[in-house]
Amino acid sequence: MIDPYRALTGVPAGARPPKLTVTDIEWCRDLVTGRRGYSWNFVDGCEWASPGCDNCYAKDIATRFAGGPVFPNGFDLTLHVERLAAPLYQRRGARIFVNSMSDVGLSGIPVDLLARAFAVMALAHWHTFLIASKRPGVLRSRLSRPDFVAAVRAHVAAVDPDHAVQWPLPNVHVGVSVEDQAHAWRVLELLHVPAAVHWVSAEPLIGPLNLRAVRRRRDNLLVDCLAGEVRDPTGAEVVAALPAALRWVVIGGESGHRRGVRPMHPAWVDTILADCAALDVAAFFKQWGVHGLTPAGTGAADSARDRRTTRLVALDGRWCTGVEWARAATHPTKVSDAVRELWNDHHGADSTTQVRPMYRVGRQEAGRLVRGQLVEAYPEARHG
Ligand code: SF4
Repeated sequence: MIDPYRALTGVPAGARPPKLTVTDIEWCRDLVTGRRGYSWNFVDGCEWASPGCDNCYAKDIATRFAGGPVFPNGFDLTLHVERLAAPLYQRRGARIFVNSMSDVGLSGIPVDLLARAFAVMALAHWHTFLIASKRPGVLRSRLSRPDFVAAVRAHVAAVDPDHAVQWPLPNVHVGVSVEDQAHAWRVLELLHVPAAVHWVSAEPLIGPLNLRAVRRRRDNLLVDCLAGEVRDPTGAEVVAALPAALRWVVIGGESGHRRGVRPMHPAWVDTILADCAALDVAAFFKQWGVHGLTPAGTGAADSARDRRTTRLVALDGRWCTGVEWARAATHPTKVSDAVRELWNDHHGADSTTQVRPMYRVGRQEAGRLVRGQLVEAYPEARHG
């Protein structure tokens, strides 16, 4: 086999092989051995796509270290061709997050660079690669094109002429990031992307998400993304089958240090987990984020500290701080219209807001348990 580093990146022989970065991301861990996985960033930098990006950790990191050796261009799109072959030098099979500091679906990533990356994933068949994008339309159009698949095959053949490429690659799991129902359309697009496993990362989950009833705008039909079925507008009858169904769902609340980090309502988690269980779809609960179910320490429930750390979150995704909530009760003219409206809705007759407190205690203390249990499952992986 030709040295893959040279063949795919053009870097002279003798140069040090590129390395993957160890990651603490929970869903990259090996569930049997507990060994951590890796991130593989052949691209850095990205752009805001939707409210799920508001507290983007990648942007925070790249901005903090902008101008330094690792992020010379800050969060602007930066290509790292020299890192392309890194998975080939990691001989022990692992779960690898592809471009954790960017989005594989960015249209600014050159098609040929993406084809080379898929060639690496084909050659490094002992790994499982995980892609999560907010731009499934770009992935769909690129990965569906015969000339893209031909380019991947040509890059593979240049390294190892005997390596047969199955398409879609069996060891690449393609997913979308979806923060609420308004962005569930991404799953509809995803299910048309050629992929061995389709998955969704509902993180940060900032509103309710029903994956079994996603409205298709063009014909008003309802799509059950877990069953892979298209139903009539009322949801009563199946009218067509989708090319694929979701095989894996990850759920996580928002983390980070900013004031505007949003809480996740436990009922949203319950709904998604129940839907996955009903359809036998693998589910993984990653974290509550910085907001936990119980307050820190043993302070009295109505102490000033608790008001500062409390967030009140409604079933529809509206939320406010404990300080705002208390003020809405005593000085309603001194809070925003949105907070006053939420307070009034909650205290109205037949209220359906289901407002509940969450507590800003930090990611570690908030933990990862749902009703006292870890929820950790992966879809079955194949390696071509
Ligand atoms: S798509 Fe992802 S990486 Fe890009 S800005 Fe949004 S959260 Fe950050």
